Amino acid sequence: MTNRSKVIIAGCGLAGPVTAIALTRAGYDVTIYEARPSSNDAGAFLNLASNGLAALSTIEVDRAATCEGFATPRMTMWSGSGKKLGDVANGMTLADGTSSITVRRAGLHRALRREAERRGIAIVEGRRVVEAETIAGDVAVVRFDDGSETTADLLVGADGLWSRIRRAIDPGAPQPRYCGMLSIGGFAQVPELDPTPETFHMVFGRRAFFGYSVTASREVYWFANVAHAAEPSREELASTPAAAWRSRLLELFEGDRGPMRPILEAADGITVHPVHDMPSVPCWHRGRLVLVGDAAHATSPSAGQGASMAFEDAVVLAAFLRDRSERDIERALDAYACHRRSRVERVLRYSARLGNTKVLGPLGSWLRDALMPVGLKYFASPKAHAWLYAHPIERDIAHATS
Ligand SMILES: Cc1cc2nc3c(=O)[nH]c(=O)nc-3n(C[C@H](O)[C@H](O)[C@H](O)COP(=O)(O)OP(=O)(O)OC[C@H]3O[C@@H](n4cnc5c(N)ncnc54)[C@H](O)[C@@H]3O)c2cc1C
Repeated sequence: MTNRSKVIIAGCGLAGPVTAIALTRAGYDVTIYEARPSSNDAGAFLNLASNGLAALSTIEVDRAATCEGFATPRMTMWSGSGKKLGDVANGMTLADGTSSITVRRAGLHRALRREAERRGIAIVEGRRVVEAETIAGDVAVVRFDDGSETTADLLVGADGLWSRIRRAIDPGAPQPRYCGMLSIGGFAQVPELDPTPETFHMVFGRRAFFGYSVTASREVYWFANVAHAAEPSREELASTPAAAWRSRLLELFEGDRGPMRPILEAADGITVHPVHDMPSVPCWHRGRLVLVGDAAHATSPSAGQGASMAFEDAVVLAAFLRDRSERDIERALDAYACHRRSRVERVLRYSARLGNTKVLGPLGSWLRDALMPVGLKYFASPKAHAWLYAHPIERDIAHATS
């Protein structure tokens, strides 16, 4: 593949614009096709960890992202009975001061998209990719829901959890699994709550898990994780009023200590997401089709790493594709997938372990509350999680381009 070769990216969520920027910097001519007709504002907010910000900094997008968020380098854990279980770092603060931030998803998405457009990347909205294949060995053919089609030298599937490109690469690819849990969250203005500078508070309630942080302007960012046996359908989610979720949460946190009641009573615009993860995806690429982000590996949200893994994928993929000759392209895709897989799978295992401690029965909760103060001492050690949060992405890039 020579420079100015044409790349199409399916999906303009979080991975799409970052991959587009990274590939443009590597010399490619990139167009993004997004299925939705307008900006993707699904979801309330997310935790963007130091390793994700470090990946963004390699393509000079980290400032745009951090402007939209606020630093949350610490977490304080509480039991539902009001016992403080301990303080723990939320990720790691790197030598240059980079730490985890909390950012509104819509704000982050807007910032990434603006950066992509500023760098001359075309974003076409309202065009859903429905099929893709490689023909003649080196041409990606991409078909859209309006019946039109186009071709490119490479198609990147950044089309999220329910990826079509994953199925185009491997019709037998695994599908996401529902984890039996809902993530419910939003914002609230609660004047009587004091700001919680740089800290997210986490409450292991007796029946559900609650997290919140109060900004300097007393805006509360909150979420709850709730066990829910059967996955609700889209129709059920769309037709259930916010008031019903609020009542359910108030009931679940009844009797637990913490500011859940005033936050929930003031909550404005409640979003509900069934939590999914995905079995390991065996094929991340075939011919001229390749995957990044949730399309390749959806982690449950517990580790707060989905976006960061997507950003790492983006810059590492672009590094492997930089200065590749035409005959090297599939080797580069293979090297990218091999290089990323072990790290991503380690994060998936870590995230699944964290999720398992959030909603437990009475005995499990008692054990967790008794053991957690000891466990947190281990978690508080920066060394224990350096592999995750202080990952040397520059080394990956150097390896890819060597
Ligand atoms: C409740 C919840 C909380 C989370 N919390 C965190 C957190 O705190 N920290 C964190 O790092 N991660 C978190 N995540 C995970 C994170 O949101 C994802 O990992 C991240 O959004 C993945 O980015 P992506 O671009 O791969 O997918 P997405 O952001 O889902 O974007 C995919 C895009 O592709 C578009 N698309 C889909 N199909 C097509 C098609 N056929 N053609 C064209 N376009 C298409 C979609 O409309 C969408 O815009 C959370 C996830 C959930 C559900």
